[in-house]
Amino acid sequence: MLWLALSGQAKASDSSASCPEPPTRHWQRVVPGVWVWPGAAEDIGPGNQAHVVSQILISHGSSATLIDPGPGLAHGREVIRSARCELDLTISRVLNSHAHAENVLGNAAFAPPHGAAALAATPATRAAMAQRCEQCVAAIAQAAGDPGLAMTPVVLPEPGLQPGQRWDSDAGGWLTLEFSSAHSESDLAWWNEDQRLLIAPGLVYRDRLPELAQGSLPGWIAALRELHRLRPSRIVGNLPMSGAGLEPGYRYLCDLGQAVLQALESGLSAAEATRIDLPAHAGLAGYAQRHGLNLQRAWRELEPLWIRGLPLACPALD
Ligand SMILES: [Zn+2]
Repeated sequence: MLWLALSGQAKASDSSASCPEPPTRHWQRVVPGVWVWPGAAEDIGPGNQAHVVSQILISHGSSATLIDPGPGLAHGREVIRSARCELDLTISRVLNSHAHAENVLGNAAFAPPHGAAALAATPATRAAMAQRCEQCVAAIAQAAGDPGLAMTPVVLPEPGLQPGQRWDSDAGGWLTLEFSSAHSESDLAWWNEDQRLLIAPGLVYRDRLPELAQGSLPGWIAALRELHRLRPSRIVGNLPMSGAGLEPGYRYLCDLGQAVLQALESGLSAAEATRIDLPAHAGLAGYAQRHGLNLQRAWRELEPLWIRGLPLACPALD
């Protein structure tokens, strides 16, 4: 019912924009009816225009649902144009997976005066966007070295998404899952049992260090164990990947937690613990920039648990 209500009010955006010759090829088909425009497996920087997460299109006839419009107004407009030119799809609904700038600031392209799609997220994601996004616009523009990004207006979604909602598409049915306190305050994932396809934009990373700044280490580890129980054949996280793609992020988070607990047992100070190296993960993009911050976050969270003698559950994914 949610989907019927939303699809009726949606309309095409940028219908007058012309299609370039030669045509762009942004979209990769994952399964029939699902496409991904992959972001770079990098931290935000001048070379990638902050396009470091994937946009996901799911068709229903000539319309499509878009999961995560990307980092800004210009990118969102290119998403609209390329979906129409490459796939002949009109984006009628935009879902925000979680409240990070690189995922959601493209909302601006889908709201008046540029567009008129339905924008939706969980109440927690909407609240976090309302709290953080004015600052995060400036931060993402600075990190990307792109003053134009700073001009993107913050457009908040309607807070209508909840776990347990189901909706249909050309690729089959989708079940909405929410994980509170994992990668962020509220991370949505979508499970398609027909295709055994899992979409988990904030929760599953390929070739890039997990970002824990607004997250919870035990919560994220538990979320990945739950997602593993689905036995997906394919996953779309920050990038498309196989069903085994949960493992590297899970292993990093577990190694991070175990390293912090060992440091606590050894009597290290919090400052000393920020220098703990995890060489097995040093090849991930963002390791040099953010591993120390992840250690700080993990320390703050795990120290009270360690004092109480509570273990960190990290069984192997099998
Ligand atoms: Zn994120």
